Amino acid sequence: AKREGGDRLGFYSRASHEQVRETLALERALRQALGRNELRLHYQGQFDAVSGALVGAEALLRWQHPELGLVSPARFIPIAESSGLIRPIGLWVMNEALRQVAAWRDAGLPVVPVAVNLSLAQFRDPDLRDHVIAALRASGLSATMLELELTESIAMEDSEHTIATVDSLKRLGVQLAIDDFGTGYSSLSYLKRLSVDRLKIDQSFVRGLRYDPDDEAIVRSVIGLARSLGLQTLAEGVETEEQLSFLRDEGCQQIQGYLKARPMPPEAFAQQVLLAASP
Ligand code: C2E
Ligand code: CA
Ligand code: CA
Ligand code: CA
Repeated sequence: AKREGGDRLGFYSRASHEQVRETLALERALRQALGRNELRLHYQGQFDAVSGALVGAEALLRWQHPELGLVSPARFIPIAESSGLIRPIGLWVMNEALRQVAAWRDAGLPVVPVAVNLSLAQFRDPDLRDHVIAALRASGLSATMLELELTESIAMEDSEHTIATVDSLKRLGVQLAIDDFGTGYSSLSYLKRLSVDRLKIDQSFVRGLRYDPDDEAIVRSVIGLARSLGLQTLAEGVETEEQLSFLRDEGCQQIQGYLKARPMPPEAFAQQVLLAASP
């Protein structure tokens, strides 16, 4: 038994050595990715649950690594966060998303608000408000064209600071959403004090619709909660007509998911989503 334990330890420390080396290599490459123009944004449409009309887009970060190919954000965002690189990267995301929407507007395509994801480090950055103002000014778009998404776990940290930051962003006129809603433990009284516009129901609950009564109960109560607080709801990860009809019947206002549109590069988004939405 002793030997087995030793082997197991040896195995884990070898595995973690390799992981550390890989993470360091990725961190080094990520440091250069911005300058080498390897970061991209893909866009995913957001739609009215009843009419099917396009109501917005979420910008999702992609890293086109010269050797590794397309690296998933699930893989490199944590590295960007732990290394501090998320701040310049997040700033690039916000500027690029607004620049892109302005370019679509200039090309005569429909203009819809664009949502960008904020990391904890960005949200804590005392310069965030100034960055938002500068990015809006550079794009010439009105503040209502930008939505900032913060995850429920970020929103739950340090409530007084969060409430003050959200208020100061809200006063600029940007929209605010709580991402991955339902995975944390937001209290009613806290949500009431947070001036956000909508809750994004986490896709882990949407997946269970029509199969898991627990997930259906959670989704139903989030929609009810949002309604009573005057917030909009958007369901993420909607893949089937059955999920959509449940959500529509329960009064969820917006949906995002493979059923309607996958995240896609800007050219494809313009062709397949924006052009299709033009009157
Ligand atoms: P998220 O913000 O919750 O984004 C939704 C994720 O669900 C995206 O994964 C999207 O591609 C995926 N998705 C959309 N519709 C469906 C569907 O119908 N079914 C399924 N199974 N998945 C769907 P993605 O693009 O891999 O991004 C993963 C996460 O990385 C995001 O989760 C977000 O937390 C983070 N992320 C992405 N871009 C950024 C960014 O610019 N900044 C920061 N801080 N985080 C980002
Ligand atoms: Ca998001
Ligand atoms: Ca989410
Ligand atoms: Ca269950």
